[in-house]
Amino acid sequence: MKPVRPLLTMALVAVAASSAWSQTYPTKPIRLIVPFAPGGTTDIVARVIADPLGRALGQPVIVDNRAGAGGVIGATEIARATPDGYVLGMATVSTVAASPAINPQVSYNPVTDFTPIINIAATPNVLLVHPRFPGTNAKSFLDTVKKAPGQYSYATAGSGSIGNVLMELYKITTGTFITHIPYRGSGPALNDTVGGQVPVMFDNLPSALPFIKDKRLIPVMVAAPQRLKELPDVPTFKEAGVAVVNRMAFYGIHGPKGLPRETVDKINAAVRKVLEDPATRKRIEDTGSLVVANTPEQFAQQVEAELKVYREVVAKTKIRPD
Ligand code: GLU
Repeated sequence: MKPVRPLLTMALVAVAASSAWSQTYPTKPIRLIVPFAPGGTTDIVARVIADPLGRALGQPVIVDNRAGAGGVIGATEIARATPDGYVLGMATVSTVAASPAINPQVSYNPVTDFTPIINIAATPNVLLVHPRFPGTNAKSFLDTVKKAPGQYSYATAGSGSIGNVLMELYKITTGTFITHIPYRGSGPALNDTVGGQVPVMFDNLPSALPFIKDKRLIPVMVAAPQRLKELPDVPTFKEAGVAVVNRMAFYGIHGPKGLPRETVDKINAAVRKVLEDPATRKRIEDTGSLVVANTPEQFAQQVEAELKVYREVVAKTKIRPD
């Protein structure tokens, strides 16, 4: 018996080690931080993806809204998380490009402090007004705000959000003044705009579309390469003579810097698999979004390119956060 013992021990150690090895990521639920309030596009895209992604990875993916400061609070939490794949977050144009460009207080570097995983979808943006607002098309909107500098206000998903930056670009380009009212996300901003407390809003299409369909908000101009099939009568900002505002938003997944490559590849493959399912794809496309589903490298390049664009805009216009 005696000589067998060390062998048995070694065998047991080997079995234990190999089972630890085979218990690969993920072995527990994953938190997906949404840096905006419920009801906004970031939340909508995250919630469409979370359940099927959890099924694809074999562990639940739990959406956690950490709103505030134009998405910077949630994004900072993602950047500071342990890079083990159990804290991921939604990467939006606001948190990785617009806010860092406009707000010198953002403490993370959007290029070096995150690990990009995948861009899920791109969405058009839309300028909306309450039905009682006197200017409901591109020309009458401009005439109305031009006549009354400072009299009207506009709601956005937050200070430094893409809505804030694009609307400030509109104001600079057209020589108008409308006061900004930042919210903790498009969800609460939409509530107040639909309720008539704020007459104008700059939003991403997915969260606004149901209110447009119900005629509770009127779309004035869209930021997209061409007119949208959902809103064929609404001109793009380019058509309306303010091409510089014509920029899309995007919604992806990233983690803190230093995520292991296998983890990144596993999540990227799982999200792609989810997006290949026609039902999930349709849920995203029905919001007016375009499915992107790219590689981590392509997403990283996109973040860098977008940050450069917003930095140039801010350098030129001297837009500052409220
Ligand atoms: N406007 C933000 C963005 O596109 C998202 C707003 C929200 O999800 O509430 O980055």
